[in-house]
Amino acid sequence: MGTDGVKIKTIEIRLPIEYTKAELEHKIARIVGSNLFSYDIVLKSLDARNKRDVHWKIRINVIEGESKHNFKSNTLEIPYRKRNKKICVIGSGPAGFFAAYVLQKAGYETIIIERGCEVAKRSRQISNFEQKGEFSESANYAFGEGGAGTFSDGKLTSRTKNIDKEKNFIIESYIEAGAPEEIRYLSHPHIGTNNLIKVVRNLRDRFEAIGGKILFETTLINIKINDRSVVAIETDKGKIECEYLLVASGHSAYDTYRLLLSKGVKFQNKAFAIGSRVEHLQEVINLSQWGKRKIKGLKAAEYKLTYKAKNALPVYSFCMCPGGKVVQAVPEKIEHSQRNELLQ
Ligand SMILES: Cc1cc2nc3c(=O)[nH]c(=O)nc-3n(C[C@H](O)[C@H](O)[C@H](O)COP(=O)(O)OP(=O)(O)OC[C@H]3O[C@@H](n4cnc5c(N)ncnc54)[C@H](O)[C@@H]3O)c2cc1C
Repeated sequence: MGTDGVKIKTIEIRLPIEYTKAELEHKIARIVGSNLFSYDIVLKSLDARNKRDVHWKIRINVIEGESKHNFKSNTLEIPYRKRNKKICVIGSGPAGFFAAYVLQKAGYETIIIERGCEVAKRSRQISNFEQKGEFSESANYAFGEGGAGTFSDGKLTSRTKNIDKEKNFIIESYIEAGAPEEIRYLSHPHIGTNNLIKVVRNLRDRFEAIGGKILFETTLINIKINDRSVVAIETDKGKIECEYLLVASGHSAYDTYRLLLSKGVKFQNKAFAIGSRVEHLQEVINLSQWGKRKIKGLKAAEYKLTYKAKNALPVYSFCMCPGGKVVQAVPEKIEHSQRNELLQ
């Protein structure tokens, strides 16, 4: 049963790699025994267990007897109330941006402070770095609008459980801002860097349209605390008074972490994994996963491995980037001699 009391039937179908919308709808009609229905794809994954029959497995919610049902996603509800409180959010990466977006929707006065530059300028600076080796402190793989993920293909990965509403809110926000609709149901969704640049820009427009502010090329350098409460922040461009401060400065902002430590902010150790990079020829992976070097209509095969070692430590493959390239993702200048060493 859907949230609006409508009876939803969930079916699973299999279709060839290059199926058409008409074939999909024909198959649903055969299963439900009628041409009058609405449907919503819930999950689409590649089934390559039998190498001679690689196909899509698609889970679909169907409502019979209605041709235009508006399937509602189970998403966050953000009640608005004018709150007269100002919040500074440090960082425009996914954590900072979505926190600020939700707070602004909820009625706070929200300002994002981002040390890097806006995404179009960042894109030019990163090309400059790749082609001429000219490094920019405010526009690199780690710092700048959209955070560290913007120039890394945008695979949407979350290993956190029980966050369906939050996940759906983020996915729907990405789609509204121009991400492909298939991220709603693909088992391994990704937005792609070219799309992400546009999506990040559109998300900023949406945030500003509801009154949010974002200051680029502005770095948090100090925090003013009065009686255990934040009263203002200092940036390299000036002071901003605020009632709350949310720091979402990502993985690489060592200076910001030192600042927080100096202010007595409590830190907690987090378990971490150590890894190494393994490179394979794409066709070796395709052969092993699909039994073929290429399949028309599919981009590249992926794999995921896990293993429990005898000493009980888990070993697992982390992030796979078919067709990816190796980049220097550090946010600081590396001298030429060091750079050549790293590239070897
Ligand atoms: C090369 C690379 C590839 C990756 N690929 C993937 C992937 O495919 N899929 C995936 O799920 N994850 C990927 N990740 C990880 C992913 O990017 C991070 O998990 C994610 O960006 C973390 O989001 P965040 O908002 O916490 O921080 P970040 O995205 O790091 O954002 C932090 C922001 O804070 C800003 N900032 C820092 N300090 C200050 C300050 N003092 N003042 C003002 N602004 C400040 C920074 O400029 C930055 O924009 C990748 C990471 C890298 C580096």
